[in-house]
Amino acid sequence: MPDSSLCRSEQDFDLFDHEKGVILRATRALERTHEDTGGLRIALLELVQAYEKSARELKRLMRTGDRQQDQLRQVSRELQEKSRLMEEQARHLLILNTDLAHEVEARKALEIELRVLATTDPLTGVYNRRRFLELGDYEMARDARNHRGLSLLALDIDHFKRINDTHGHGAGDATLLRFAQACSTCLRAMDTIGRLGGEEFAVLLPETPLEEAREVAERMRLAVESCRMTGPQGLFGITVSIGVVQLGPEETFEALAERADARLYAAKHQGRNRVES
Ligand code: GH3
Ligand code: MG
Ligand code: MG
Repeated sequence: MPDSSLCRSEQDFDLFDHEKGVILRATRALERTHEDTGGLRIALLELVQAYEKSARELKRLMRTGDRQQDQLRQVSRELQEKSRLMEEQARHLLILNTDLAHEVEARKALEIELRVLATTDPLTGVYNRRRFLELGDYEMARDARNHRGLSLLALDIDHFKRINDTHGHGAGDATLLRFAQACSTCLRAMDTIGRLGGEEFAVLLPETPLEEAREVAERMRLAVESCRMTGPQGLFGITVSIGVVQLGPEETFEALAERADARLYAAKHQGRNRVES
C-alpha cells in the first residue's frame, strides 16, 4: 500500500497523515461494504494498528519532549549558576582591584615619605647633612661647567647653649626651627640650605659671586636678629655668625667648607652676630 506521506520531507511531516490515509481507505471500503466485507475488515484492522502506532509515537514524542525540557531546565539552571559565579568573581575582582589601587597609592606615599625622611632634618625641615653634601657635589659640577660663581655660607647660632640652659631644650628646638625659617625666607628657589648638625647650618648659593653672597648673608643675619622668641623665662632674641666664601679654581668641596668654617670662627672671635668673608 503506497504511502505518499513517507516520501515527504521531515519539515512537511504531519503526525496524522498516515491515519488520514487509513481513514480515507476505510471510508471507501465502507462505501463498498455491500460488495466486499473482507475489505472493511482489513481497513478497520489497519485503522486500529495505525492508531496504536500513532499513540506509541505520541507517547515516545512526549517522553522525548519531557526529557528535552528537563535537559533545557538543567542547562538553564547551570547557566544561571555560572552567570552567578561569574558575577561574584567580577565583584571579587573589582574589590581586589580597588584594594590594589589603594595599596599602590599607599606605597607611593610611603616612598615619598621615606625619601623626605632620608633627605631632610625632621626638626627644621631643611636638608640634612648627607643630602646637603650630595647637592654640594652637584653644584660643584654645575659651576665647573658654567663658571658663574658658587658661594658657600657657614652659619652658627650664637650662644645657643645659653638658650637651652635658660629656657629649656623645647625652646631650643623651637629656636632652631624659627632660625631655619628666617634664613629660608632670604633664599631663592635655586639656593640650598642644610642643617649640618646641632645649631650649625650651611647655604649653597649657585651663580652667586662673593660680594652678592655677602649681601645675602647680611640679609640673613638681620632676619635672624629680628626674630622674637618666647620661653618660660620670657622673651629672648637670637643672633647668628656667618662665614662667606666663593669656590676657587680647582678647589675641592672639603677645602671650600674648611675656608667657610675659618671665616665663621673669625666672625665668632670678632664678637659674633656678624658676617665674615
Ligand atoms: P657659640 O656662640 O660659640 O656657637 O656658642 P654656642 O653655645 O652656640 O655653642 P656650643 O657648641 O657651646 O653649644 C651648642 C649647643 O647646642 C649644645 C647642644 O646641647 C645644643 N644642641 C645641639 N643640638 C640641639 C638640638 O637639636 N636641640 C637643642 N635644643 N639643642 C641642641
Ligand atoms: Mg656650634
Ligand atoms: Mg653656636
